[in-house]
Amino acid sequence: MRKKLLDILACPICKGDLKLEVFDENEEEVISGKLICTKCGTEYPIEEGIPNMLPPDLR
Ligand SMILES: [Zn+2]
Repeated sequence: MRKKLLDILACPICKGDLKLEVFDENEEEVISGKLICTKCGTEYPIEEGIPNMLPPDLR
């Protein structure tokens, strides 16, 4: 995912802001990492460039 996407993404549970943690990236995109909600602490994994925004109970 492109880092710019972080500006429009919000936690689907509480609509809080997300913090990006990057494990692997190229010039354009984050390949793997995670998004962490700064409000409720829920983590959303980013795998192969795709953020998984499903709440943990629905995965
Ligand atoms: Zn949240």
